[in-house]
Amino acid sequence: MNLQNKFDLGFLPTPLHKLKNLSNKFLNYQIFIKRDDQTGLASGGNKTRKLEYLIQKTLDDKCDTVITAGAQQSNHCRQTVAACAIAGLECHLLLGGDKPKEYNGNLLLSHLLGAKIHFTGGNRKGEDIENLKINLELEDKKVFIVPYGGSNLLGALGYINAVKELKDQLKEQNLDIDYIFFASSSGATQAGMMIGMDMYGIDANLIPINIDKAETVGFLENIVLDLINESKQFFHLYKEYRIADIPLERNYDKAGYGNLTDDEKEAIKTLAQTEGILLDPVYTGRAFYGMLDYLKKSKIKQGSNVLFWHTGGLPANFNYGKELF
Ligand SMILES: *Cc1c(COP(=O)(O)O)cnc(C)c1O
Repeated sequence: MNLQNKFDLGFLPTPLHKLKNLSNKFLNYQIFIKRDDQTGLASGGNKTRKLEYLIQKTLDDKCDTVITAGAQQSNHCRQTVAACAIAGLECHLLLGGDKPKEYNGNLLLSHLLGAKIHFTGGNRKGEDIENLKINLELEDKKVFIVPYGGSNLLGALGYINAVKELKDQLKEQNLDIDYIFFASSSGATQAGMMIGMDMYGIDANLIPINIDKAETVGFLENIVLDLINESKQFFHLYKEYRIADIPLERNYDKAGYGNLTDDEKEAIKTLAQTEGILLDPVYTGRAFYGMLDYLKKSKIKQGSNVLFWHTGGLPANFNYGKELF
């Protein structure tokens, strides 16, 4: 386990810049953005950073085939297929629901990128992975499983490394950040950020916005805590973390996963029309809505520097044409 042992996939570092027009609308806050929507891998996103470590491990283990799972509009699946194309790996996706008549958004891109797609009906979180693995092994394939959302310890390394990148940029720009907002869902982005901030000594408050209130795989706080505890031994960290130390803002997830409301829609339009930057309907639209609500209601200290960590998701907009119009 080592931060240097990665398969290069991203255009890194991603830009860190000020949102000047948006900051002008809030007298008491300076707002910045970290552009992980620009990681470069088949339209970018946060999974690129995780995949640099997951794909390296696939190659180190001499595997030739990858399986992962997600929603039909999964950004994670789309980036995994793209990474496999670069690394010369066969990629199987298990996607919940039935085969649609037409492909669009991330599903269309995954198809173009060469995914072998299996529609799994009601099994939406990779329940069928082991069966598929057995079948592929009968065909003499060497299979590596990338977990749901790319969220295991290897995935978290991507965001430990990202915090190091952020630290260098803050130094270069002579900037201090007080609060960091981002969308949190399967856990490794948040776990990586939390460990990274302790490792590299960044003293900002994380405000992760919870996206999926259903959480069929367990409470997100527990998943994040487990990932942190697992990683501590590799990095010789001695700080004790308790469940109460895991921040998670659950006030903005009421509509349920993937359900777009006027709140996300307005957040998407706000950033698009002030800064020319596109969010997505599932993750970043919701997280940005949460952040705007904090700023409008002055829920955080006035005069603060606030960072929105954009985690990607652009292609999903093309699946929400009607709702977004
Ligand atoms: C997956 C994803 C997230 C959430 O990251 P996790 O590591 O799963 O918490 C946020 N934003 C976008 C666009 C994503 O695709």
